[in-house]
Amino acid sequence: MSIYHDEVEIEDFEYDEEEEMYYYPCPCGDRFQISKEELMEGEEVATCPSCSLIIKVIYDPDMFKAEEDESAALNEKMSNLILEKN
Ligand SMILES: [Zn+2]
Repeated sequence: MSIYHDEVEIEDFEYDEEEEMYYYPCPCGDRFQISKEELMEGEEVATCPSCSLIIKVIYDPDMFKAEEDESAALNEKMSNLILEKN
């Protein structure tokens, strides 16, 4: 069971392109964080590393879907390569 401190739209998060992480200020002074990868996997809970608060991320899964398909295709390619090696 999860009790969200808040529900926040992804547009309101701050995006760090280098880390591929989304940040949102937490009342404790730290920041909630969720990675782009987690969003692509359908994760919708951003956590704060300094306290136990969690927030629900409101976003459109389609926004990340194109890339998901791309990386899935890449993963398939990779595993095929590994199979071929063996
Ligand atoms: Zn916090």
